[in-house]
Amino acid sequence: MGEKRFRQALARAQEQGKQVRFWWRDDDAVAPGPALDELIELARKYRVPVTLAVIPAPAGEALAERVRNEPMVSCALHGWSHENHAGAGEKKQELGAHRAASDVLGELSIGLTKLESLFGPSFHPMLVPPWNRISPALVPHLSGIGIRALSVFGAERPDAALPLFNTHVDVMDWHGTRGGRDAAMLFDELADWMERDWPLIGLLTHHLVHDDAAWQFLDRLFCLTGEHPACIWLGCEVLMTACEG
Ligand SMILES: [Zn+2]
Repeated sequence: MGEKRFRQALARAQEQGKQVRFWWRDDDAVAPGPALDELIELARKYRVPVTLAVIPAPAGEALAERVRNEPMVSCALHGWSHENHAGAGEKKQELGAHRAASDVLGELSIGLTKLESLFGPSFHPMLVPPWNRISPALVPHLSGIGIRALSVFGAERPDAALPLFNTHVDVMDWHGTRGGRDAAMLFDELADWMERDWPLIGLLTHHLVHDDAAWQFLDRLFCLTGEHPACIWLGCEVLMTACEG
């Protein structure tokens, strides 16, 4: 159970000569602040690369300035303004079928250009839909506006029109305490994906709402995995090389 089981899964991977591949996505960055500082500090401490899903409409030069010389940080596109266009009683969506596809794609295209100019080489054209939801009808059109990969939550669909790099384990308890979830449960979920030999396991965080439990879990996870010979944490730029050519 929990951390012990996770450590056993790591040891087993090592015995079998396997390397577990992880990546870390953190959502909703718009501006620098103490929580972002803490996130970057963790990334630096354990040399674990983090992909910030940046909301382009409100993001500005201050965020770009903060991450400019941080080699552990890269950025991806988190919708346009993170605005919900779904009706009452529906699950929240910015990129749903509620508006004309041309309007949604137009906003994403503006967002992409904005983040490219703000972040330069640390930005990668990966789309992270707000609330991890996007209308399936939009996906085939994303490559036409320069988006090269998509990242949502859960097991990757095998038939996606774009390369998918999903997240699989969410640190936050959105429906209960709205704080960090129980560490034992998180370690169990990670061990579940490892036991399925999942090719790339994505960790999802939201630095702006982390409580002590969330930060402590991340510190422990990176302490266990950051230098473990059976693990590798991959940055967005490494994932994206799979989308080129
Ligand atoms: Zn978000």
